[in-house]
Amino acid sequence: MRWEHPQSAVDPVCHKTVDPRIAKTAIYGGEVFYFCSDTCRSKFEVSPDTYVDGSAISRQTHVSPS
Ligand SMILES: [Zn+2]
Repeated sequence: MRWEHPQSAVDPVCHKTVDPRIAKTAIYGGEVFYFCSDTCRSKFEVSPDTYVDGSAISRQTHVSPS
């Protein structure tokens, strides 16, 4: 898997700006999320929906009405 690191990213858990080159990462809903610490990443992994709020993954989440 290959992607371009953004210039900066916001930790979805604590909302700090983090440097993607050194941040912890997690992938959820096809998106890469960056974290300032393992603590924040762990919190995210327990309940990603709490932090993602739909907006970050809306680009790649296609909900097809049935
Ligand atoms: Zn954090």
